[in-house]
Amino acid sequence: MAVLARLDRVRAHVHAASLDALVVTHLPNVRYLTGFTGTAGALVLLPDRCLLMVDFRYATAAQDLIASLPTGAIVIETVPQTYDAAIVDVLRRESSRRIGIEAAWLSVSRFNAMSSGLAAGTPTPLRASGPTPVLVATERLIERARMIKDAEEVEAIREGGRRISEIARRLADFVAPGRREDEIAAELDSAIRAAGFSRPAFETIVASGPNSALPHARPTGRRLEAGDSTVLDFGGIYEGYCVDLTRTVQLGAPSAALRQLYQAVAKAHEAAVAAVRPGVRPSAIDAAARDVLVQHGLGEAFGHGTGHGIGLEIHEDPRIGREMPGLPDAPVEPGMIFTIEPGAYLPGTGGVRIEDDVLVTADGCELLTDAPQLMMIDL
Ligand code: ZN
Ligand code: ZN
Repeated sequence: MAVLARLDRVRAHVHAASLDALVVTHLPNVRYLTGFTGTAGALVLLPDRCLLMVDFRYATAAQDLIASLPTGAIVIETVPQTYDAAIVDVLRRESSRRIGIEAAWLSVSRFNAMSSGLAAGTPTPLRASGPTPVLVATERLIERARMIKDAEEVEAIREGGRRISEIARRLADFVAPGRREDEIAAELDSAIRAAGFSRPAFETIVASGPNSALPHARPTGRRLEAGDSTVLDFGGIYEGYCVDLTRTVQLGAPSAALRQLYQAVAKAHEAAVAAVRPGVRPSAIDAAARDVLVQHGLGEAFGHGTGHGIGLEIHEDPRIGREMPGLPDAPVEPGMIFTIEPGAYLPGTGGVRIEDDVLVTADGCELLTDAPQLMMIDL
């Protein structure tokens, strides 16, 4: 019944925005509100009903989905032709006037198709009984609700975190001098599936030696060498929910420069985790990590944010980064789940990143991933 509570929460946001309908076209948001997992679909949220729009491929699956819900909570509408035409038909039938759309996710061409469809259906002035329907751009209405995970979501991510941590604890089995980055990445992907994940949550990163200085490197054919730091950043999707973890494995003795990176990044990670508790702004969590790196003379070497929310998508709100004009920085709340992933990168030398997933609790946070932070392999 989790979806009913989610529908209620989002309806409150829709009501507060003075909308009488919300058209949801971003599939993770459709899934969040209904549990529907198809590759196409849309949803029209009305004050008293939620219309799940699916094409014939998904009609049966959608019916099964709502069978366990109270009658009428979610109603299936089968789309005969195009989604946009069907959405317009529904909005006209319901006489919706102020209709929210998800500005971040609806293309201009779809917006135009819906606008002209609604305009074409407007009665001639003599018969007009109300204002022309208007499409209103909304931002993050559902994403805002998704930031706070409910019990079902926390359970899925906690279990995902446990499973991905088990793989992380075995990283020494994957990494050895002479092995290629891309073969290690392929083996990690197999391990992720074998651990019960439906698939990797993103393209697995294995970045060794100089490549580890590139925060978002893609695995190459480079063979690992003694002295390399190797950044392994990987995640999986468990029951629809993403987990995300990074460890850096050192092959043989690190250079003095790398040793300093390991120490500084570990301290930055510890400081950021210690800063997480309700009421703290994401920018303050970021600053906790960043200040440590700056103190070590590595401010310039940390060019990304400290973390990001995870959930149905691998990058969600909240964003844990520096305060920036126009970007949200509202205090974190219990039930939020995000990554803490400071790193430091020295071009030509190498990089170190440590990433864990945390759940904000009533008085601090719970680490959802757990594996030794510094992994040194003696050669
Ligand atoms: Zn990651
Ligand atoms: Zn991440």
